[in-house]
Amino acid sequence: MHQDRTLVCRDCAEEFVFSAGEQAFFLSKGLQNDPQRCLSCRAAAKRARVIGGPREFHAAICGSCGGQAIVPFAPRNDRPIYCSSCFDKVQAAREVSSAAPA
Ligand SMILES: [Zn+2]
Ligand SMILES: [Zn+2]
Repeated sequence: MHQDRTLVCRDCAEEFVFSAGEQAFFLSKGLQNDPQRCLSCRAAAKRARVIGGPREFHAAICGSCGGQAIVPFAPRNDRPIYCSSCFDKVQAAREVSSAAPA
């Protein structure tokens, strides 16, 4: 019969238990290979596959130049979105105006 085995996750290098029950499950699915990742890394990899990347990026229209901006957060209608080059300009302009006497 199967015995619990300790494997090393290839993503986080943590040890994890490949339990007898999981081994039986893998065999029942016809999987010959040991799992490469621990449970949490497997879940993370699955999420990454679903959303297409480790982070969620959103396409938006730059409020300054009208070009495409890719932002790592969901765009909100009440805040303008800038592409990376315009964002730098906006930030620089903001610093100048906040430094000026009111
Ligand atoms: Zn891991
Ligand atoms: Zn722009």
